[in-house]
Amino acid sequence: MSNDELPVVVIGAGPVGLAAAAELRERDREVLVFERGRVPGAAVAQWNHVRLFSRWGELIAPPARRLLDIAGWTAPEENAYPTGRDWQQQYLAPLATALGSRIVRTGVEVTGVSRRGRDRVVDAERDTAPFTVHLRHADGREERVFAAAVIDASGTWGAPNPLGGDGLAALGETAAAAAGVIGYRVPDLDDPAAAARHAGRHTVIAGSGHSTLTAIVALAGLAEQAPGTRLTWVLRRGEIGATFGGGDADQLPARGALGERARRAVEAGLLEVVTGFRTAAVEPAAGGQVALVADSGARVEGVDAVVTLTGFAPDLSWLSQIRLELDSTLQAPVRLAPMIDPNVHSCGTVYPHGVGELSHPESGFYSAGMKSYGRAPTFLAMTGYEQVRSIAAELAGDHDAARRVELVLPDTGVCGGAGVFDDPDTSTADTADAAGGGGCGGAPDAGETAGQTVPELITLTASGARLS
Ligand SMILES: Cc1cc2nc3c(=O)[nH]c(=O)nc-3n(C[C@H](O)[C@H](O)[C@H](O)COP(=O)(O)OP(=O)(O)OC[C@H]3O[C@@H](n4cnc5c(N)ncnc54)[C@H](O)[C@@H]3O)c2cc1C
Repeated sequence: MSNDELPVVVIGAGPVGLAAAAELRERDREVLVFERGRVPGAAVAQWNHVRLFSRWGELIAPPARRLLDIAGWTAPEENAYPTGRDWQQQYLAPLATALGSRIVRTGVEVTGVSRRGRDRVVDAERDTAPFTVHLRHADGREERVFAAAVIDASGTWGAPNPLGGDGLAALGETAAAAAGVIGYRVPDLDDPAAAARHAGRHTVIAGSGHSTLTAIVALAGLAEQAPGTRLTWVLRRGEIGATFGGGDADQLPARGALGERARRAVEAGLLEVVTGFRTAAVEPAAGGQVALVADSGARVEGVDAVVTLTGFAPDLSWLSQIRLELDSTLQAPVRLAPMIDPNVHSCGTVYPHGVGELSHPESGFYSAGMKSYGRAPTFLAMTGYEQVRSIAAELAGDHDAARRVELVLPDTGVCGGAGVFDDPDTSTADTADAAGGGGCGGAPDAGETAGQTVPELITLTASGARLS
C-alpha cells in the first residue's frame, strides 16, 4: 500500500482533533481519530461544570458546522456561553457521530508513534516510510496501525503542573495528593460531596490563570453561604498585578468579566492573598490538615484542602521515537514558540500561523491544539481550528491554502509577560518595562523571532473588525 492510501491518524478527539477530522473528510483524505477517553471530548467532559468564556460562535469549527448541518443538527445560540458539558454534549458528541465510529474510535489510547521499522536514529528512507502508531484498547488489547501522517491533538489536560514552586512536586505533595488533600481541578461545587470538602473549612487556591479565577469565584460564592469557610490564594508572583486580566479591555467579554468577579471577591475580603509564595514543602498537621511552607520560610497553616491550578505541560513520553523540534523553554514547536511566549508578550495577539510553524524535522508529523502551545497559556479553540485547517490543506496538497493562514485571536487586554510577572521581587511596572514596554502592540519585530519572516499582524477589535 502506498503512503497516499494510508490514513492520517489524529491523536485525541477533543475540539481540535475532531475539527482536524472534519477538515480532512472535506478534502477526501482518509482519517482515523483515536481517543483514550470513553467519549469524544473526554478532557472537556472532565471540566463539564466550568462555563467557557468563549461564545458558541467561537467554539464551532467551520467544517464541523458544515458536516453537522448536513446531519440536521440544531445549532446552539451563537452568543450564548456553554459549559464544558454543553460543549461536549451539544457539539463534540454529535460531531463524532456525524464523522462516524469508523473514523472516531473512543477507548483507544495512543501509546507510541514511530516510523515503520525505524527508530529515531535511522535515516534511511525515513521520509517515505509510513508512521506506525501503537494503540492500547480499553480492554487491554494492543494494536499497531500505519499512517501517512500524524496530527498530535492530544491536549495537555492529563498533565497538570504541580504545586511546587520550582515546577517539581513539593516535598510531601505527592503524599498529600494521594490522601485527597491536594487536587488539580476546579472543584464542582454543585456536587454536594465536593462542596462539603470546602464548606466551613480552610482551602488554599494556588495559581494565577483563568482556571484559578474560576475557582476563586466559585469558592468565594461558597464562602458567602457557608459560615467558617476560609480561603487563601497563594501566588508565586510578587503582586496580583495583571492576574485579573484586562477587564473591559478584554475582547472576550466573558473572560474579562471573570477577572472582574474574582477581583471583587478579593476586594470584599473573601480571600486572604499571599503573594511571592513559592511552595517548597507540604507538611502533615493534626486532624488531617497540612501546612504549606514556602522557599522563604513563610507558612500557611491549618489547610484542609489545596486547589492547585498552576497550568499544564505536554506529555512527550510516547513521542520519544519522533524527531521533534521543540523550544527549550515552552516545549512548543520552535517556530511557534516566540509568538506565544508569555515572557515576551501575553496580549493574546498572535501572528498568523499554521503548517509552517507546526511542523517538525519528522516530515508528516504535526502538533496541533492545546498541546502545540506546550507550556504557554491562553490557548483558544479557534486558534486550533485555524491550525488544523492549514495542516489539512497541506496534507491534501493544497499548499497555497495551507500557507494562506489568517489566524485572528482576540486580545486579552493585558500587557506584559506573565512569565516575567512571576518574579516575586518584581512589580508590575518594572516588568512592563522589562517586557519592552509591556504594550499590547509590543510584539517582536520581524527580525526578533527566531530568524523567520514574520507576516502581517492581525488583531481583532472588540467589534470584530481587523486591525493590521
Ligand atoms: C477549565 C477550562 C476552561 C477553558 N475555557 C476555554 C474557553 O472558554 N475558550 C477556549 O477557546 N478554550 C478554553 N479552554 C482551553 C480548551 O481546553 C481548549 O480550547 C480545547 O479544549 C483544546 O482542545 P484540544 O483538542 O487541543 O485538547 P483537549 O480538549 O484536551 O482534547 C485532547 C483529547 O486527547 C485525548 N488524549 C490525550 N492523550 C491521548 C492519547 N495518548 N491517546 C488518545 N487520546 C488522547 C484526551 O482524552 C482529550 O479528549 C479551557 C480549558 C480549560 C481547562
